[in-house]
Amino acid sequence: GRGAAVVTAVARRLATQRRRIDATLAPFLLPLDILREVKDKMRAELEYGLKRETQADATVKMLPTYVCGTPDGTEKGKFLALDLGGTNFRVLLVKIKSGRRRSVQMYNKIFAIPLEIMQGTGEELFDHIVQCIADFLEYMGIKGARLPLGFTFSFPCRQASIDKGTLVGWTKGFKATDCEGEDVVDMLREAIRRRNEFDLDIVAVVNDTVGTMMTCGYEDPNCEIGLIAGTGSNVCYMEDMKNIEIVEGNEGKMCINTEWGAFGDNGCIDHIRTKYDREVDEGSLNPGKQRYEKMTSGMYLGEIVRQILIDLTKQGLLFRGHVSESLRKRGIFETKFLSQIESDRLALLQVRRILQQLGLDSTCDDSIIVKEVCGVVSRRAARLCGAGLAAIVEKKRENRGVELPWYHFPFAVLKELAPQCDVTFMLSEDGSGKGAALITAVAKRLHNVGQK
Ligand code: BGC
Ligand code: MG
Repeated sequence: GRGAAVVTAVARRLATQRRRIDATLAPFLLPLDILREVKDKMRAELEYGLKRETQADATVKMLPTYVCGTPDGTEKGKFLALDLGGTNFRVLLVKIKSGRRRSVQMYNKIFAIPLEIMQGTGEELFDHIVQCIADFLEYMGIKGARLPLGFTFSFPCRQASIDKGTLVGWTKGFKATDCEGEDVVDMLREAIRRRNEFDLDIVAVVNDTVGTMMTCGYEDPNCEIGLIAGTGSNVCYMEDMKNIEIVEGNEGKMCINTEWGAFGDNGCIDHIRTKYDREVDEGSLNPGKQRYEKMTSGMYLGEIVRQILIDLTKQGLLFRGHVSESLRKRGIFETKFLSQIESDRLALLQVRRILQQLGLDSTCDDSIIVKEVCGVVSRRAARLCGAGLAAIVEKKRENRGVELPWYHFPFAVLKELAPQCDVTFMLSEDGSGKGAALITAVAKRLHNVGQK
């Protein structure tokens, strides 16, 4: 009768709704054969970046870091470390002890970098950094000490030695003027000179991936890959010198900062980018750049989610078809909300509470859809990241040319795409800070640089 007709109508409406949601999210699913193709493309780009003839035009820049050795436990002393690159700036004092009482002690202070400094002039940015260092030295009572300093600078830098780094281009939320093409160590030294209050011995400038790898390398010398999945995305790894054509010498290894975030900037993965990815890119500080990073890292995932939610709302599938003021606000979906919403432990009621905090009135059905969208976007990021990592570990395996025993695989994708590679994951604790100090210590030990 009539009741059955209503039920059928409701069921039909729900089925249509489901179909449309599925259709919207389908481009995010990336089956294995596509991921395999991503891995192969990444692999090709890694090679272009290493070869003399192609490196100048390569999108994945494969930057030599001049970090050739891992810590061996004999490092010791007091070091300052700076960490710039995410949302905050940190200054650290790191005390490293060697021998039987081997240990690393750290004191640090976090400073916010206001938006107008991140996107002001280079001089203002470096003056602010030196102001923070001054505060820290004061706070620790070590203003007179001329300590060796390691600078973790988490942006692409072309290096000619461990204590020189020319900024290739800003990424993430930074856009200070007059820095690109300049040596960031020089800019720091000049800012210290301008202030004329204390002196520092800048020994090393390192990427955060490199610091991360070194920190784990201190515990386990077999650690030869550093991965950052944070505000931005990047990987470094130890490469055989003979494969690094733009650096003299064939002996031993050097750490390569891949800058894989730029993968796809030549269009090679455009077919897997969705219209939402393109919208996020167009609204970013660096349109057209860091395309792979924009699909995989924290600074952008929330924005992708927001773009999808707007589209679903416009299709009448969400929020009663009403695109609210809040939903229109760029950046409301910070990554922390995304991972909370996506977590399996979170009940739907809590999801609704988070949405409420963001100014989004949701029904129970809405919260189910939002959770699904967050899951799909972060799963795609993890799978893409796994595909990239598979390219790296396969390359390393070929370098080694030996068989390894079987291992365990935290990333399902990695297992699928690089089944012959033995990978163990270690969480790097405070890689950027501790790593800069360790590298500084290694550099001091090996070259005694910076003591001119
Ligand atoms: C930068 C890399 C950095 C990564 C993670 C990217 O945007 O280009 O140098 O390692 O973010 O912080
Ligand atoms: Mg960092």
